[in-house]
Amino acid sequence: MAGKLYLCATPIGNLDDITFRVVDTLKNVDLIAAEDTRHTIKLLNHYDIKTKMTSYHEHNKYEKAEVLVAELLKGTNIALVTDAGTPGISDPGEELVKQALAAGIEVTSLPGPAALIVAVSMCGLSSRRFVFEGFLPTVKRERKEALARLENETRTIVIYEAPHRFLKTLKDLQDVLGDREIRICRELTKVHESVLAITIADAIKLYEENEPKGEMVVVIKGKDEEEIAQEERASWEEMSVKDHVEHYMQQGLSEKDAMKQAARDRGLSKRDIYDEIKK
Ligand code: SAM
Repeated sequence: MAGKLYLCATPIGNLDDITFRVVDTLKNVDLIAAEDTRHTIKLLNHYDIKTKMTSYHEHNKYEKAEVLVAELLKGTNIALVTDAGTPGISDPGEELVKQALAAGIEVTSLPGPAALIVAVSMCGLSSRRFVFEGFLPTVKRERKEALARLENETRTIVIYEAPHRFLKTLKDLQDVLGDREIRICRELTKVHESVLAITIADAIKLYEENEPKGEMVVVIKGKDEEEIAQEERASWEEMSVKDHVEHYMQQGLSEKDAMKQAARDRGLSKRDIYDEIKK
């Protein structure tokens, strides 16, 4: 019988943030695949877990996932842990999960900490609707595209960033989003945990003078719906009524529906639009 893959959430700082089920599972599986065995050994020692470990990380994830899947198929029960939080969330876990599922292996996730959830729940920005971007791409073009997609995002935005790229990321965010309200959630669950409510511009000033340090989640206020509506109204006002109607017709609307939509955008009646384009 094939083994099972257990995704085990581990602490993001405070060693007590681990469930009984995760500790039991780590004790009872045949093998623990860990992102950094030197890091995970501290957790295992703390909980007196003696299970054998193997490394599974960003730089061996494709080949090592094949090896682990072969083990699973032979009947080995494997727990996957990463350096912090829930495996598969912005870490190499995703690849092993994909390969295991493709091979018909049973995969289960044992919930626990995830930095994004800790940050969103305590930072005070809207947590009703949010979008998680993980780490922004580092390749210039992909990064630009990812940022552009965020420009009109009305949901709260959550990103992960490493200290050495933090200032650059803040500047890129300012270029695209303008000066928005953000929360910088640092060292969550640790002794020096902090949540800083600041604007992007002030954060840039702050980190130009003080080197960013520690682990950070940035939570960004979504764009105001009214601000988007105002921007749209302003852009329609720059366009003639005729161009406005044509714009919708090019998108496939009938003339009648295009006039209706243009009237709605401009806060005018259909009659006004009709009179204007028949002038
Ligand atoms: N799998 C993890 C999770 O469930 O959150 C995330 C792994 S990702 C490689 C690491 C990033 O998570 C860090 O760069 C930081 O943005 C964020 N992070 C992890 N621990 C954190 C903490 N204690 N406080 C703030 N951010 C943290």
